Amino acid sequence: AAKKTGRNCVKLFDRDDPLEVNLDDSVTDLLRGAIAGGHVAMVYQPIRDAVSGEIAGAEALMRLTGPNGESISPAVFIPIAERTGMIVELGRWAIRTACRELIVEDLVAMVSVNVSAVQLSTPSFALSVAAILSETDVAPHRLIIEVTEGLQIEGNPDILRSLRELRTLGVKIWLDDFGTGFAGLSCVREVAFDAVKIDRSFLQATETQRGAEMFRNIVGLVRNVGCQTVVEGIETSAQRQLSAELQVDLLQGYHLGKPMKADALHSLVASETVVSRKSTSASA
Ligand code: C2E
Ligand code: MG
Ligand code: MG
Ligand code: MG
Repeated sequence: AAKKTGRNCVKLFDRDDPLEVNLDDSVTDLLRGAIAGGHVAMVYQPIRDAVSGEIAGAEALMRLTGPNGESISPAVFIPIAERTGMIVELGRWAIRTACRELIVEDLVAMVSVNVSAVQLSTPSFALSVAAILSETDVAPHRLIIEVTEGLQIEGNPDILRSLRELRTLGVKIWLDDFGTGFAGLSCVREVAFDAVKIDRSFLQATETQRGAEMFRNIVGLVRNVGCQTVVEGIETSAQRQLSAELQVDLLQGYHLGKPMKADALHSLVASETVVSRKSTSASA
């Protein structure tokens, strides 16, 4: 129940609404024992090279299962985890799990993990990432931290400091949901993001001539500031083709692979490796 309040300000829950307060409390209870109880899990969505179509990496996405086996959307539980501070522990668990399941197992070359403002504002954030990398023996450049554009990075010294520290570690930093928030291009320059993910709302508008033109301009804009371009939310072959024509670097979306557990990703990677070996030997 996201509610629009004043200018540009989205209030996720109405504290005066008893139903929402209840939901809030029950999710908070669920989150409290979620790691120990196995109620949270990570799923991974393939990120593909736009030219070869090969799996270049994956985005890690958190899943929470309710007491009746129902799946609770991140749109619901992430804001609650942020408000209660539990996102700090959950976030560390997410990074560690993603590193272990995908990189230690060498399933893919890189994994991206989403982080919230609350995490980045914690002074020890980069330190905790460094600890996870050394504990798992994962090379820093194989981890990507995704920062959503809604974050208002500029003018937030704690967040900027964490990003600088991550950069010093050698971790990659991507700007997520570009075009929906407040960051804009000056921020893209200041933080020197390695890549920018263009929000899927732009892709959805590409059916009209004007929308397609806008999408083309945004891709060009991101490329011109020297960032890799990633398009998320690709649902059709037409959208994939358009993105490829615009020479976007990396693609992600249901059309190219849905979020899945690590073992399913393992099978997918294995089956595609066999196919590409077969086609190589066939043409040799
Ligand atoms: P996001 O980082 O922008 O992630 C992309 C979302 O789009 C995911 O939703 C993904 O399942 C969905 N998606 C992927 N391909 C398509 C497509 O082709 N069409 C459509 N319609 N959707 C697609 P999800 O998993 O529900 O996550 C929602 C948001 O929750 C994420 O947006 C991210 O901001 C946040 N989130 C998820 N996991 C974590 C986490 O571990 N930590 C933090 N801090 N935030 C997380
Ligand atoms: Mg993301
Ligand atoms: Mg996104
Ligand atoms: Mg998002």
